[in-house]
Amino acid sequence: MKAEELRLQRCTNCRTWIWGPQWICARCHTFNPAWESVDPIGVVYAWSRSYHPFIREYAHRTPYVTALVELPHAGGRRVLGLMPDAASHHIAIGDAVQGRFELDEGAVWPLLRWYPFDDRT
Ligand SMILES: [Zn+2]
Repeated sequence: MKAEELRLQRCTNCRTWIWGPQWICARCHTFNPAWESVDPIGVVYAWSRSYHPFIREYAHRTPYVTALVELPHAGGRRVLGLMPDAASHHIAIGDAVQGRFELDEGAVWPLLRWYPFDDRT
């Protein structure tokens, strides 16, 4: 995240994308998968709008939307993230999204947040 790159593991032997992080490839059992950069572009696989501040630091963000985003450039692996603009906008499964690395005030490293895909950027 500090390098503002989305990196997922990928097996050095069979090239399978792996997420969450593992010591071994579940497909071919090769140890120590490599970390590869992936374009932070994806599709909303599922989402949820939260009205309760489960995390104290996000209390000021309620209601907020958490999205499970499928990454077509990483074998369809799925990662979670907030969609800051989605609280007041329509969101649907299948929507194209793009990630941005954002550093919250007082935070040590940035987090990946998801926004509606804009091909002008
Ligand atoms: Zn493998």
